[in-house]
Amino acid sequence: MDKIAEKTVDKKDNNQEEIYLSVTIPVYNEEENLPILYEKLKKVLDNLGYTYEIIFIDDGSSDRSWEIIKELAQKDPHVVGIRFRRNYGQTAAMSAGFEHARGKIVIAMDADLQNDPEDIPKLLQKLEEGYDIVSGWRKDRKDPFISRTLPSKIANWLISKVTGVHLHDYGCSLKAYRADVAKQLDFYGEMHRFLPALAKPLGAKVTEVPVKHHPRKFGKSKYGISRTFKVILDLILVKFLLDYRTKPFRVFGGTGIILILLGFLILAYLVFVKIFFGEDIGDRPLLLFGILFVLSGIMMLSTGIIAELITRTYYESQGKRPYIVKEIVRKDYKD
Ligand code: UDP
Ligand code: MG
Repeated sequence: MDKIAEKTVDKKDNNQEEIYLSVTIPVYNEEENLPILYEKLKKVLDNLGYTYEIIFIDDGSSDRSWEIIKELAQKDPHVVGIRFRRNYGQTAAMSAGFEHARGKIVIAMDADLQNDPEDIPKLLQKLEEGYDIVSGWRKDRKDPFISRTLPSKIANWLISKVTGVHLHDYGCSLKAYRADVAKQLDFYGEMHRFLPALAKPLGAKVTEVPVKHHPRKFGKSKYGISRTFKVILDLILVKFLLDYRTKPFRVFGGTGIILILLGFLILAYLVFVKIFFGEDIGDRPLLLFGILFVLSGIMMLSTGIIAELITRTYYESQGKRPYIVKEIVRKDYKD
């Protein structure tokens, strides 16, 4: 190592303690759970011996959650509290947690004590084996079967099939991420459960480990069965983003051209029978189909062109690239 590089390392060591581990926790009306969760987490994290921070994101709670978080942050410098102006949902809270995380590794978990902080070392160990995302798998799930566990089984099977990232338990919030991967993910809606799939284009290595799961003791679950529909919609979007995000014209353009061709064939056939057999075509349903196919094909084509332009704006306005460099090797190159 040359001198300049050595100095940079020194400076970092003296001036600021680097945080290794950031634990991010979305909180929505979890006043009974917070103090217990904090004690449990603290015990596990102190034992691990890494530098760490615990980030609570209060997602517009109406109970005493924020007061509790504030108290914790005032007495323990490891605790960071972020408060939303209103309830934006778990996905937004997680996203805010990732954005504010200073650690090299980010752990996400729920505030409701259904995840167990004691599983964190297990996740970290797996991460150190070279994975980028380690997802918890609630092998022995403690939720009602018909309303929660069964729909979740079907959803996991479907998501795995569609995205090609095979996990038993997408819905488990307890996951460990390398921060450079976590910070590259942008997610909206209910998409936090799809993060391992969304990380696929980044070339992230994903795995899972069985974790403990406890029944909810305090407070209520914030979701019901209606979540299933949102998840299905999000899945369609995720599939699209995974396969065509950088080339939307392929989907729209492709379908558009097929429709136009079909439409032309139908119309050509009608013209043929009209001219050669003198048949009346004005009241034939086929005429309607022909016109409809051509028109919707043209619309598809133009949607594809617009989508393509938007994609370019998305990448270029944010200085993003449609690829991600893992490392660069060059003589004299310092990162
Ligand atoms: N949560 C949130 N905002 C919401 C709903 C939930 O921050 O609008 C938090 C909640 O406090 C908990 C986590 O997200 O820490 C998971 O919520 P919940 O336990 O209700 O989900 P379930 O375990 O039933 O899937
Ligand atoms: Mg829960």
